[in-house]
Amino acid sequence: MTAEIKTHHFENFGPTEGGRKIELFQLTRGSKNLLLMGGVHGDEPEGFFLVEEFVRSGLWRELEGVASLWVLPRLNPDGCATHTRVNGRGVDLNRNMPTKDWDPVARKERYQPGPSAGSEFESQTLIKIVERLQPHAIITMHTWEPMINYNGPARKLAEVMAAQSGYVITDDIGYPTPGSFGTWAGWERKIPTITLEIERDSGSEKTWSVHKDSLMAGLLFAGMNDELG
Ligand SMILES: [Zn+2]
Repeated sequence: MTAEIKTHHFENFGPTEGGRKIELFQLTRGSKNLLLMGGVHGDEPEGFFLVEEFVRSGLWRELEGVASLWVLPRLNPDGCATHTRVNGRGVDLNRNMPTKDWDPVARKERYQPGPSAGSEFESQTLIKIVERLQPHAIITMHTWEPMINYNGPARKLAEVMAAQSGYVITDDIGYPTPGSFGTWAGWERKIPTITLEIERDSGSEKTWSVHKDSLMAGLLFAGMNDELG
């Protein structure tokens, strides 16, 4: 998807189990690194659609000189290609991060945590990227019941985004998520992390109209402020 867009930096990681690449690119330059990502769960198309449409829209150009925007549209390219939650090895990447609460027992069939914490190539790639970029804020896309979930010092950032989309804000989605990215990055590393739960099955048109301004406002706020919590 990068062919038509001039990027400051592009690289890919792979191959995954299914022979695909995880793409990372830098769209703008500025003093703070921001990471926008999607496609953790391949059966949540609104999530990676929103990231990819945002890239196509060019709205991000407003961030040039304000922040370095890094985009990882599909952490789980195999799952996205096959419309499945898990990766090519049957693991739920949002239960595989090496958190203190990682649990080898799946709470439900769909939450397979993998053979060990951080066992998956996709998880290892994400860790490498976050450790290298040291992002000032991370926004990651999923679909479920509509809400803005924040982990770590990101409450103000969540409020800025909610003011545009009308979504509710929470720091607790109501059930345990051992090995989740929000826990790993937000709670354990204190990186302001937003998990945007887009309304499931809301489709591309509605997803774009509800979230485009919210996403842009959030990125600008994160790029221009030291304190996001
Ligand atoms: Zn998800």
